[in-house]
Formats: sequence, C-alpha cells, structure tokens
Amino acid sequence: MATIAPARQHERSTGSRQEADHKSAINQQTSPMMHVRNLCVNYENSRTGELTEAVLNVDIDIFPGEFVTIVGLSGCGKSTFLSAVAGLVPYQSGILEVAGRVVNGPGPDRAVVFQRASLLPWRTVLENVIYGLELRGIPRKEARDRGREILKLVQLEGFENFHPRALSGGMQQRTNLARALASDPDLLLLDEPFGALDAITRETMQNELLDIWQKHRKTVLLVTHQIDEAVLLSDRVIVFTERPARVRKQIVVDLKRPRSSAVKNNPEFLHLVDRIWSEVNRVGFGKEGEEYVI
Ligand code: ADP
Repeated sequence: MATIAPARQHERSTGSRQEADHKSAINQQTSPMMHVRNLCVNYENSRTGELTEAVLNVDIDIFPGEFVTIVGLSGCGKSTFLSAVAGLVPYQSGILEVAGRVVNGPGPDRAVVFQRASLLPWRTVLENVIYGLELRGIPRKEARDRGREILKLVQLEGFENFHPRALSGGMQQRTNLARALASDPDLLLLDEPFGALDAITRETMQNELLDIWQKHRKTVLLVTHQIDEAVLLSDRVIVFTERPARVRKQIVVDLKRPRSSAVKNNPEFLHLVDRIWSEVNRVGFGKEGEEYVI
C-alpha cells in the first residue's frame, strides 16, 4: 500500500498565484453565498429500513459571484448534494445555509436546472419562463418584459410564442435556463444541464453559459461528470470521493476570463483536466491533514 503527500484543501492550478491570493483575500472578507459544514445525507429504504450513505461530512463555501463545479464518479453523491442544497432532499445533520438562511426546503433564493427540461407543455416558451414570477405575484407586464429580456440573453428571441414540443432539445434546455435566471436566484444550481444534448449543442450551450455568467456573475453550483466542461466554466472545481461523497480536493482554475471553448487547446487547460481526472479516479480517502491511501 503506497501513501502520498497530504492534501491541501485548496490546490491552485499553475499560473497566477497572485490572482489566486487576491481571490482568497476577497473571500476571507465576504460572507459565503452557500455555507456547508459537516453535511450528511442518507437515503432510507422505506421497505427494508436499509440506509444508503450518500454524502458524508462535506464542507464547502461558495462566495458571491463564484462559479463552482463538483465532479466525481457516477453514483458518488453529486446530485444528492445538489438536491440537498436545492431543498429537494432532506439532510440528516450538518449546517446548510444559502444567503445566510438555513435551507429547510425549496425556496426562491435557489433555482435548479436539471438534465431534462421540465417545461409545462401547455404553456408557451415565454409563459414557461415567467411561471415562477407569476407565482410570486409579479405584475404580468413586468414579468413578461423580464421574460423577454432573459429570452434574448439565451438566444431565444422570436420563439416566445412557441410551445415546448416545437423546440429542439437545446432550445428546451435554454428555456429551462431562462426560467431559472428569470427568478434572479441567489444561487443557480445546475445538475448535468447539458448531459442529454448532442456534442455540438453541448459545446454551444457551454459557450452561451460562459457568456451569460460573464454578463451576470450569478453564483453557480454545477454538477457534471465532464471534466473539460468543469474546467472551462469554473473558478473552482471540487472533486468528490466515491460514495459516500466527501470532498477529496478543491482546485482553483486560474485560466483568464473571459473564456471561450478555444481555451481547451491551452496547455494549462489540458494539464488541469489531467490533474482532475487523476483525482476523480483515485481510490480511498484520508481525513484532512492525514495522508491519502492508494
Ligand atoms: P451522482 O449524482 O454522483 O451520480 P447520486 O447522488 O445520484 O450520484 O446518487 C448517490 C447514491 O445515492 C447512489 O448510490 C444512488 O443509488 C443513491 N440514491 C440516489 N437517489 C436515491 C433515492 N431517491 N433513494 C435511494 N437511493 C438513492
């Protein structure tokens, strides 16, 4: 059995150490938008009572305007963690706060985009986008104006009156993203949002998301198993262990912004992807300050 050096909580990529120091200095003075400590999430089989530990003692802070991505092996607990933050799955213990408020269920401070667009088939694109605003009692004209503005942002101008069935998969997912953005959440939660799209549409959507994020600087938590997607989009990539998910490593992505998919040819990008791959595929886990055992 071999051992390797202890993990540091935040490992920097190559490149601008000064910039990373600057970022962490900012972070130390700012309250996190998402604050998670010792979070544990289990599933209980209602028939047998058997427990599945999905998330174990996870600590993560995300700061305002940060784009953070969680990667890990399939089935490790990424979606469970995101669902707990969304308030869709209860947690057993730990601290889970968004914008300073304890998460006790879903709320308008968080919006989620899943892999499959969950649009209401009887409503038009615009009506889907403003659905949440209507529920919150926003006046119709104001909601529609805001909806149109967001649809422009996601390149769906001109499709306001289409029904979901008349849209391609990529357009449906753009509508879903527009719906999430329309409610102006404190935290945008993206669970494999491009996972069901073909490779070309996926790349287009990644570029559009980069563009939208660069304009709006929403605080984003993304879950993906595509490591190149994680590096392209993020300020920081968090690698989860195999189930139950714990934080294995946090890697700061120092690649210059604004970015586009052209950055994928950059040697630093390729180095980061390799680095993260090896962390995702590492087996075993030691507590912080201990050694990893491989
Ligand atoms: P990932 O998103 O990393 O692929 P998930 O969070 O979906 O992983 O799943 C983590 C573990 O929890 C898996 O073993 C999965 O089978 C289990 N799991 C997920 N959802 C449920 C559920 N609703 N009930 C019971 N077990 C679940």
